[in-house]
Amino acid sequence: MSETFFPKYPPNISNENLESLKNLAIDWSLSHGLIIRPPPNTNNSNNSFVMHAPVSLFPSPFPRKTYYEAIELQPKFNLLFHKLSQDSEFIKHVVEEITKVDDFVGNLYKIYLKVKEEGIVQPISLGLHRSDYLLQVPPDATEANILQVEFNTISSSFSSLSYLAGELHRYLLKSTGYYNSSELLKSDSLPLNDSMTSLSKGMAKAHELYGSPNAVVMMVVIDEERNIFDQKWIEYDLLNNHNIHIIRKTLKEINEQGKLDPNTKALIIDDKEVAVTYFRSGYSPEQHPTEKEWDARLLIERSKSIKCPSVPYQLVGAKKVQQVLAMPGVLEKYVTDPTDAKQLRASFAGLYPLDSSPEGEAAVKLAMENPENYVMKPQREGGGNNIYTNDIPPTLSKLSVSERSSYILMDLIQPPLMKNIILRQGELIEGEMVSELGIYGIFIGGEGKNEVIVNEVGGHLLRTKGRETHEGGVATGYAVIDSPLLI
Ligand code: ADP
Ligand code: MG
Ligand code: MG
Repeated sequence: MSETFFPKYPPNISNENLESLKNLAIDWSLSHGLIIRPPPNTNNSNNSFVMHAPVSLFPSPFPRKTYYEAIELQPKFNLLFHKLSQDSEFIKHVVEEITKVDDFVGNLYKIYLKVKEEGIVQPISLGLHRSDYLLQVPPDATEANILQVEFNTISSSFSSLSYLAGELHRYLLKSTGYYNSSELLKSDSLPLNDSMTSLSKGMAKAHELYGSPNAVVMMVVIDEERNIFDQKWIEYDLLNNHNIHIIRKTLKEINEQGKLDPNTKALIIDDKEVAVTYFRSGYSPEQHPTEKEWDARLLIERSKSIKCPSVPYQLVGAKKVQQVLAMPGVLEKYVTDPTDAKQLRASFAGLYPLDSSPEGEAAVKLAMENPENYVMKPQREGGGNNIYTNDIPPTLSKLSVSERSSYILMDLIQPPLMKNIILRQGELIEGEMVSELGIYGIFIGGEGKNEVIVNEVGGHLLRTKGRETHEGGVATGYAVIDSPLLI
């Protein structure tokens, strides 16, 4: 398969030239902030040490037509997820069953219900999303198409480092011509990527709509963030290009230091008013170890600050929502233009419930009999949570029917393989790889239920991993940051 789709790639380069490319890549990365912090508990773990981010040495071939299809889908997905977030009946229908066995989703849902009952003081919503796709080549087909892996509504990361990885490849091409080794490697095949500035632009627009020029943006963070520089670039862009300050706070700090103005419900912390609360934490149970963190979540949700995401936006990012949307007629209820609905649906892989419905029972049977075709997913984010192929039957056997309902089953997508060389901790690793394309989406919903203020594409991310690795996260150590070479 790799031969057919991505011929003669990566180019044949002498060991000496590879070594030189490696050193150029490391120096460029360190000079331009394509960096992460070293792992904790290493000798270099105080905050003055950095290392280059895991990257690919060459951009990875990606079908041009398919890339543009993914871009075209993004505003449609942005709007769809906005509509879902506004539909409390839908949220109830999808989430209630899960809350019985999943405390994390249960706590989020409680906050959602409580704030809805009290009355929502901030109707404006800010979505900084990322829709992720894998390629697949259907049997007997000559072209690849994309299938959606998931739609992220919270903490979509790597927008800054992704831009930089593209610039790194552009630099390697410009400075060495990759030693004139491949006809594919042309600079006009490297698409421009505005992901370095698109998220901050969205935040700045939300800040403007909030209407208090001296207010700040609060980034909700974890204590020891290795991917901090990806976040710092957003901070610098907001300050330099929009004159807006960011403060970084953990949920625990927000609980201890944050309060609401009793009259306006403005969120106040360090005597500053928070116009926009941007979550780069808050997507997993480990980030809510005590009631304090949940109290902070409630405080934020009750406040007048514009949340990115609000709890309903976070809830509709659940994998269960993706599965329910794929059921006959559900997507079409929200996307009334038949052409749009068809286009969106064409990007869905097979998705199945694992509950007590007849469809759920049938899916359990499928997964027990042919586990090699499936991946099982809990309602979690951040990588490393899925159950693949042969691990599915023993897991399913252990779960009660109610517990099973909090997972979904999905067809395992088998993307075409290609060869590339990746650079991780100063070492080159060559092998057969697969790539996952992410498209960022920027959406601002207005005060009226159907009012759309911003609905844009915000650039792309390409992550590449060894063929044998199931998971795709960069932060979790499975994948590297790459950039597409359109073919
Ligand atoms: P998370 O929210 O934790 O990132 P994902 O659904 O993105 O969860 O799954 C994590 C990774 O697992 C993906 O980046 C991808 O590499 C792999 N993966 C997920 N779903 C599939 C699938 N249907 N087929 C093949 N690989 C998948
Ligand atoms: Mg996710
Ligand atoms: Mg993912």
